[in-house]
Amino acid sequence: MPQEPYKPSGPYVIQSGPRMGQVLELLMFNNYPFLRWLLNKIEKEDRGKNRENRLHQHLRWLIAHGEDRPVPTVCPHCCQNPVAKIALSGSRKDGYSRDSFRLRVHTSCADCRRELHVFPAGNRQTILDLKFSTIVWRGFRQHDREQFVQLLKEIFQLPLDLNRQRAFEFFVAKPTPIQFAPHQLQLPMAGA
Ligand SMILES: [Zn+2]
Repeated sequence: MPQEPYKPSGPYVIQSGPRMGQVLELLMFNNYPFLRWLLNKIEKEDRGKNRENRLHQHLRWLIAHGEDRPVPTVCPHCCQNPVAKIALSGSRKDGYSRDSFRLRVHTSCADCRRELHVFPAGNRQTILDLKFSTIVWRGFRQHDREQFVQLLKEIFQLPLDLNRQRAFEFFVAKPTPIQFAPHQLQLPMAGA
């Protein structure tokens, strides 16, 4: 993929249609599947055209940066690298239990993945990446997606009252992993 020239100056507000007034940066958290659908639709419509409109550019930029956000929460096993994986217990049929989405117990960095065999024998375990594209993983139902988004907000240490400007700043931030010493860490308690 070529270097992206697009440099957004602020959050993108949808200008027309039934979602007029909604902000793409907040939809990344509230309705990511819709944004993926929309990008797909626009890419088909724009195929063969010389110019892309601003919605197309902004949406593609946003979806790309959902994959490389810096993670300020460190792995609970090595206390060094950013968390990158989560182990979930369950299935598409039965859903994934609320207890599965626990930051301290069920997450690890890429190196500590082997530490993630945390569920009792006989439970089916799935290991997933902690990034936005996992929201549309085919194993999830709506309820699981909501819990996963909540977990993403926890690992990115975002405020509960996330507004459009703060969300925009989050997606603009450079994708350099930030590492904190363990004593500086205050991991939010899952389910609190
Ligand atoms: Zn680790």
